[in-house]
Amino acid sequence: MLRHSENQVLLRKVVRDFVEQEIAPMAHKIDEEDTCPVELFQKTAQLGFNGVFVPAEYGGAGLGYTEMAIVLEEIGRHSAGLAVGLVAHYMGVYAIMTWGSDEQKQKYLPLLCSGSFGGLSITEPGGGSDFAGQKTIGQPVGGEWILNGRKCFITNSHCMGVNVLTARTGEDDKGRPQISAFIIEGDTPGHKPGRKEKKAGLRGSYTGEIILDNVRLPQENLLGKPGDGAKIGLGTLGEMGRGGTAAAALGIVRGCLEESVKYAKERIIYGKPLAKLTNIQFLIAQNRTDYEAARLLTYNAAGMKDAGKPCASELSIAKYFVVETAVKAAKRTMDLMGGYGVISDYPVNRYLRDAVAAIPACGTSHIMQVIIAGGELRK
Ligand SMILES: Cc1cc2nc3c(=O)[nH]c(=O)nc-3n(C[C@H](O)[C@H](O)[C@H](O)COP(=O)(O)OP(=O)(O)OC[C@H]3O[C@@H](n4cnc5c(N)ncnc54)[C@H](O)[C@@H]3O)c2cc1C
Repeated sequence: MLRHSENQVLLRKVVRDFVEQEIAPMAHKIDEEDTCPVELFQKTAQLGFNGVFVPAEYGGAGLGYTEMAIVLEEIGRHSAGLAVGLVAHYMGVYAIMTWGSDEQKQKYLPLLCSGSFGGLSITEPGGGSDFAGQKTIGQPVGGEWILNGRKCFITNSHCMGVNVLTARTGEDDKGRPQISAFIIEGDTPGHKPGRKEKKAGLRGSYTGEIILDNVRLPQENLLGKPGDGAKIGLGTLGEMGRGGTAAAALGIVRGCLEESVKYAKERIIYGKPLAKLTNIQFLIAQNRTDYEAARLLTYNAAGMKDAGKPCASELSIAKYFVVETAVKAAKRTMDLMGGYGVISDYPVNRYLRDAVAAIPACGTSHIMQVIIAGGELRK
């Protein structure tokens, strides 16, 4: 049985109150106008959400991944786009917190906890799933690194304060690409946002290109050692991004459940509430069951991460199941609403667009299945 502590229950109430006051009233406008309300990110920083799992000595709230999931579920309940922006920020934070030197943590984590946007830049036009195929180059020249290349589909691309980015820095002794990770401040000369994508869903967070045009970085901006890029990039996606995306999508599943119940009670048909029809009750039962399963998987994986247990498979299972479930729950809820389901005054068609857009984020469902099956086959 999943049971949250008293403090976790209290945290959920604080986040929910904030979301209902500050985000829910804006959620439709954010989606319609396809903007990223950066001012909200300052408010979430003030409440301690931006560094929820960061130790207090670096300016964070000193909590864990379960608390992170609570924050993301609550924000995702009304704006999965904003929640995914926070997931990307958390990835940048996590990479520095986990692999940074003490100087790097002292320099960047307080900044990231107090309102500067973080992110993780891996994907390139040549393919996000093919990590080793990336072409961005980092060359060591005269004691510095010079970076050139182009990243795409990067969340927070147009508001990034601190970017953790991977680049090819040579070959290892077996001739395979050596990939390293760097910390780049957003205003570093040559580091600039490129094209901003118009997404079907998850509006509320920017997704776009990052151009690297002769970006010069001192040695101290290397994260970890040369060649640690795969460990850092894939580790961050696997250990942070997937659990975060699952939690954001869990908010969508809960949204579907709550909207289906509300609509079924309010809509009068044949002189009585829609909820009297048995098939409508079945749809609500499916939404409730899906939410319960998605919730258990999300918080089970987060709890394992908090306990320091290996949980790459559990995080991938949660991401795969919850995101795919969100798509099904949103479609089902639209069906329940008849014609009103497709009208944009109601939020449910946005939930469907958000859920579909969450499938590729942090690795597609196919990649999740490859990881999950790999874990089983290695046993
Ligand atoms: C909303 C959003 C936010 C994102 N944010 C970020 C971000 O912040 N940072 C970042 O670096 N990237 C980000 N991405 C990019 C995301 O990680 C990639 O889209 C994803 O990894 C897939 O890469 P691709 O789009 O190039 O598809 P491809 O890799 O070209 O995949 C195409 C198809 O092939 C399948 N496929 C590929 N390889 C395999 C395989 N080995 N086995 C089976 N099937 C396979 C895929 O499942 C897919 O169906 C974001 C994407 C989205 C949509």
